Amino acid sequence: MLSQEHIQLIYRLKRDLSRERRIVVTTHQGPDGDAMGSSLALYLFLKKRGHDVHLIVPNDYPEFLHWMPSNADVVNFMRQRPFAEELVEKAEFVFHMDYNVLGRSADMTRFLYKCKATRILIDHHPDIDMPSRYIFSDTQVSSTCELLFCMMKRWDYSLIDRDIATCLYTGVMTDTGSFCHRSASAQTFLVAAELMRFGINREEIYEKVYDNYSENRARLMGFCLNEKMEVLPQYRTALISLNLEEQQRYGFVIGDTEGFVNLPLSIKGIRFSAFFLEKEDKTKMSFRSRGNFSVNDFSRTHYGGGGHINAAGGDSKIPMPELIRQFKEIITMYEEKLNEEG
Ligand code: 5GP
Ligand code: MN
Repeated sequence: MLSQEHIQLIYRLKRDLSRERRIVVTTHQGPDGDAMGSSLALYLFLKKRGHDVHLIVPNDYPEFLHWMPSNADVVNFMRQRPFAEELVEKAEFVFHMDYNVLGRSADMTRFLYKCKATRILIDHHPDIDMPSRYIFSDTQVSSTCELLFCMMKRWDYSLIDRDIATCLYTGVMTDTGSFCHRSASAQTFLVAAELMRFGINREEIYEKVYDNYSENRARLMGFCLNEKMEVLPQYRTALISLNLEEQQRYGFVIGDTEGFVNLPLSIKGIRFSAFFLEKEDKTKMSFRSRGNFSVNDFSRTHYGGGGHINAAGGDSKIPMPELIRQFKEIITMYEEKLNEEG
């Protein structure tokens, strides 16, 4: 349910956008299903309302999201830099989808800081750190796509179509672990039901996202579970790390390790899982938990990262072996907490 405040904001925004405007829609770096789903849905919606709109992502995103409607229109800041910079500079309105910290937009951040456009934030993460004229933020919703659907219903229901519904459903599905995570509420299921009424193909969406990987990726998963996973029962924790050489060995492409962090949570008793992925210039960390152990707090406290209570991430420039050594030291402080019920 949208709050009264959000409903008032939608009417104000609608007035601001009542004539053709130059609009840029952006996402966080390494956009996931919710970021791509919400930004493509909004892009399609604003185009139908007659705006001059572009969707700019900071960098590459996984192949399994490239099938989405209007994917061909996406501008990649990393790859189309001069064009993207010009679009940001000229924009009258900038939407920030699925992130609430400006620094999460990688090299694009600097240009977003500079630009004079009116900012609109649509997101579901806690701890907003982004100056915006319009803030649509609800940490209770499963996904940015769920929130955006509720907004679109108020904004202009008649414009929602099958393509927009397909994008929105993809984001809700991926951010809720196919409707299994705690974040999926009764409203989430109602939203999914409403989206189905637009004639979306649920099986096809699921297959395109989850059953579209390479043989290499399946073997990489086997390697991770067989040889790389460390289980620390004392802390109800498991971790997996992959260095650059191991990634190369399995022909790693972006998106191949998506979801690997969840695998150790299928082990009885494990409630905290960490995944370390070495990159050229840093190590990217993903954290997942069960119950009340907040990986958002954990990531923020120790790595300056963030996310949600049960799903968070961060990165560090510390060499990966040292980073893992430190991680194992840090979790000793959480022994009691990790062994609490709930
Ligand atoms: P993932 O592990 O799938 O990359 O991210 C899980 C959640 O944590 C997502 O909601 C994502 O937006 C958030 N997240 C991941 N990395 C970072 C980070 O470096 N900083 C912040 N603030 N959030 C992150
Ligand atoms: Mn999200």
